[in-house]
This record gives sequence, structure tokens and C-alpha cells, in this order.
Amino acid sequence: MSYVTAKNLTQRFGNNTVLDNISFTIKQSEFVTLLGPSGCGKSTLLRSLAGLNSTDVGEIWVEGENITHQAPQKRGIGMVFQSYALFPNMTVEGNIAFGLKIKKLTGSQIKHEVAQVIELVELKGKEKNYPHELSGGQRQRVALARALVVKPRILLLDEPLSALDAKIRKHLRQQICDIQKEMNLTTVFVTHDQEEAMVMSDRIFLMNKGEIVQADTPEEIYLHPVNEFVASFMGHYNLMESQLAKQLFNIDTHCKVAIRPESIYVREQGRKYGGHVSLPHLGTITGHQLLGNVIRYKVHIEQCELEVDVLNRSSERLLTRGSQLELLFNLNEVQPVRC
Ligand code: ADP
Ligand code: MG
Repeated sequence: MSYVTAKNLTQRFGNNTVLDNISFTIKQSEFVTLLGPSGCGKSTLLRSLAGLNSTDVGEIWVEGENITHQAPQKRGIGMVFQSYALFPNMTVEGNIAFGLKIKKLTGSQIKHEVAQVIELVELKGKEKNYPHELSGGQRQRVALARALVVKPRILLLDEPLSALDAKIRKHLRQQICDIQKEMNLTTVFVTHDQEEAMVMSDRIFLMNKGEIVQADTPEEIYLHPVNEFVASFMGHYNLMESQLAKQLFNIDTHCKVAIRPESIYVREQGRKYGGHVSLPHLGTITGHQLLGNVIRYKVHIEQCELEVDVLNRSSERLLTRGSQLELLFNLNEVQPVRC
């Protein structure tokens, strides 16, 4: 049974349709990520769930209750923003306790709840610090604690990691996932970073221009993109014109075909390739990027530039610009995409 249901949500600002007839369901304890390019409507959708936008068209239901026109504070929703939005003149404890004071809990209850959540987000020892005395990662953990302490029915996070540097970002994203699982929290997380979405989510809602283009598990979205937009947004799909696909693989389609860089092999002498691979096709290397454990070659083949990934096993085997090579395509992974 669905925990959150959105029916035909449409949001306009003047002539600009920012959410275009969006419908979805979310299960209890599910971690859903809204992923998509900047301006596609992710924050607007999150704000609609939180009640921070008034909804004119469509309905939002939580646990069988129509909350479409309910005030934000009545919805039982916790929200964390990219900018921490902490009270600068309050300590860590004060910031976290704020929501409980509004709920009129007793002093000892507040103390107990705040201590518990401080433990959960690993801020022990920082209780008496002010926001300006904390790092970005610590501030965001205060914001998270503040959202969690009121035991929300749904946790909404709008790009909470975007302002942090890479290492802290990875640590905090793991922490968010752990807490979400431990508390069985139904969570909607917003990001424009596809790796973040892939590693954190039970399901990804991939958005473009105010619509949800595909709502699926990370694996399904990565392996079976429903259209060209999803294929180009997720990972580094090569998109090939239908004519070239016919010429190389004898695939008859009117749409482009997508193939991931790791599904194209550089043919090595004497090596056997199992499975369903194409005939060899000659290409020329036009450049490469070193991605650590992977080398991503740019290969020119029949007026088309492809990205081809090779495991970086040895620095001596780097193929130089201008070299020719034979490519084999894993035909099980060559897929026509909706135009
Ligand atoms: P995202 O979070 O995906 O980057 P947003 O939901 O913030 O995108 O914005 C989507 C579009 O809606 C943008 O074109 C933005 O300018 C517009 N928009 C968002 N909020 C408002 C508002 N309160 N008034 C007018 N336009 C808005
Ligand atoms: Mg946004």
C-alpha cells in the first residue's frame, strides 16, 4: 500500500508551468530521490509536499489522509535545505530543541530527545557550540538533527550535501542512509548528482521540465533508460544515430541507440569474447581521460565519437592518440531509446 500519493500535481508560476501533471506513489520507509537538471522542478515538488507552495491543481495524500491544503506544521514533515538555515544566536542544543519547545514538550522530555538525536548524528561534545563555530558538515548535521527530533512522518532533503566538499559529502550521505534505515523513515531526497542518487536511493524519480520521466530503481534507470534524455543524463551513454546502428549492428530502428562505455570492448589479440558481441569495427583514438581505475577513451568511428571504458590495469598499456583499434560491441547492451 502506498504511504504518500500525489495525484495530477500541476504548479504554475505566472505562465511558467513548473510541475506538469505529476502523479506518483511512495511506499512507507522508502528512500526516493528526485534527480534532474537544475530548474526541472525538484525543489518545487518538494516544497509542495512540505506545504510551502499552495497547491491549486492536484492532490497530496499521506497515510490515507488528504493533506493538500493542510498547513506545513500540521503535516508531520521534517525538512533539510542546502543552506543550513540554523538560528545563529542559538547553540546546537537550542537549534535542535526549537521544534520540541513549539510542541510544548516538558524540559526533561526535550533534554532526553535532543540528547538521543545528537548521538544519532554524531554531534556529541558540540551541544554548547554556536553555528559559526562548526564546520559545514557539522552544521548540516545540526539541520538534520533538527528535522529528525520531531519524529517526522516524512523526511524531505533538498540538496543537503551540495555545499560540502567531496569527502564530507560521502561520509554524510552514508550517515543519512544509515539513519534513514534505522528509523524506517520515508524519505524524499533531492539532488542533481546522479552518482549520489544511484548509491542512496531505493527508487529514483528522474525529472525533466516539470515531469517525472522515469520512476524506477537505480539499476533499472541505469540499464534501461526509457528515452534519450534519461540515457544522456545517467552515466555516459553513447548515443548513436539509427543509420549507423543499422550499418554496425544491423539493428533496424528509427530512433537513436544507446550503449554504455563499459559495453564496448577494445579487442585484444588472442582473447576470446563470450556472449553476444558484434563483428570488430575499426576506430581511431582521439583522446582519453584518466578516471582513476578506468581509462575513458574517445574513439572516432564512422563520423561518430564514442566513449569506451577500459580498466586501468597498467600504465604501460595506455593507447596513444591516433592509434587504431578494433572495437567489439556487447549486442545485449545496445538498446534503441525512445526519441
Ligand atoms: P530545481 O530545484 O529542479 O532546480 P526549482 O523547482 O527550484 O528547480 O525551479 C523550477 C522552476 O520554477 C524554475 O524555472 C524557477 O525559476 C521556477 N520557480 C520556482 N519557484 C518559483 C517561485 N516562487 N516563483 C516563480 N518561479 C519559481
Ligand atoms: Mg532546487
